[in-house]
Amino acid sequence: MNRSEYNNALSRCVSCGSCKAFCTTYDNSPNEGMSARGRITLLYAYEKGRQPISKLLNERIYSCTLCGKCMKNCPLDIDIREIIYHARANLQESDKERRFLRYILKLMMRSPNLIYKMYHFIYNNIFIEAIKEKINPFKIELPQKTFREKFNVITPQRKIGRIVIFSGCAINYIFPHIGESLIKILFKMGYEIIVPKGEVCCGTPFRTLGLENEAIKLAKKNVCLFNKLNAEAIISLCPSCTLTIKNDYPKLIGESINNIVDATYFLYNRMNIKLSEMKNVKILYHQPCHMKYGIG
Ligand code: SF4
Ligand code: SF4
Repeated sequence: MNRSEYNNALSRCVSCGSCKAFCTTYDNSPNEGMSARGRITLLYAYEKGRQPISKLLNERIYSCTLCGKCMKNCPLDIDIREIIYHARANLQESDKERRFLRYILKLMMRSPNLIYKMYHFIYNNIFIEAIKEKINPFKIELPQKTFREKFNVITPQRKIGRIVIFSGCAINYIFPHIGESLIKILFKMGYEIIVPKGEVCCGTPFRTLGLENEAIKLAKKNVCLFNKLNAEAIISLCPSCTLTIKNDYPKLIGESINNIVDATYFLYNRMNIKLSEMKNVKILYHQPCHMKYGIG
C-alpha cells in the first residue's frame, strides 16, 4: 500500500461502525479509540494534521491485534489490517515503547541460529530459578535441534509427488514436533518432503512493529527461494505465515510464493476427511483468527 492508496483507504471509511461491534480490542476495552473505526478516525485526523503524534495515539494503533475480524464486516471492504501496518511504519520512529523490542528482533533475525544456540547455553548455565523464569516465563522447553536442522529431504519408496514445507519460526524453533507430525502424515501418503534450509522469517513480526523495509527483504528472500522449488504444494504450518505470504506479499513486493497452502486445508482436502462419517471421535479444533478472517 503506497501513500496515496493509504490516504484513499482512510478517506473511504464512512464511519458506519459495522466493524466496531466485532472489534476484538473494543470488546475488551469499550472505548472508541480501541475500535477499528476509532483507529481509522485517528489516523485520518493525523494525516490531515488535526491529531498530533502522542504516546496514546501509538498505543491505539499498536494495540490492534491485526486479527482482521473487522474487515469481514466492513461493507466497503476497507483493508484495515493493511492500514494498521502502514500506520505503524509511519509511527515507528516516534514509538519509544517498543524500541527495545525492535532492537531485539533485528538482532535475532541477523543470525537466528546463533541466538538460538546462545539462548540454550545461557539458559542451561543459569542456576537461579528466578532469572530462568524471567527469561522463559511460560517454561517452554525449547528443543536442542531446530526443525530445519533435523530435516531436509525425506523420500518414500513409492513417491506420488513432492511437497515443500514452509515451517515458520514457531515450528522451527519452538514446536518442531508439529512439523514432525506433518512429515509423518505426508510420508504415509507417499509424498517426498523438502524442508528448505534457507527459509527465513515470513516478516510478520517485523510488520507488526512497523519495520516494513526489513519485512520486504525477508519476503523477497522467501519468494526467491521457494519459487525455485518444483513442488505440488508449499505447505505452511502457521496460519499467520500463510496469510502474510498469500495475502500480504503481493501488496508488499508485488509477488508471492506460488502454491502456498495452509496445512489443515491441504490435509482436509487431500485425505478426503468426512467429519460427518466419523463416529465416536472427539476433535477439538481451534480456528485461528488469521485462518477464519484472513485466509478463509
Ligand atoms: S484487526 Fe482486530 S483488533 Fe484490529 S481493529 Fe480489526 S477487529 Fe479490532
Ligand atoms: S465498517 Fe468499514 S466503513 Fe464502516 S466504520 Fe468500519 S472501516 Fe469504516
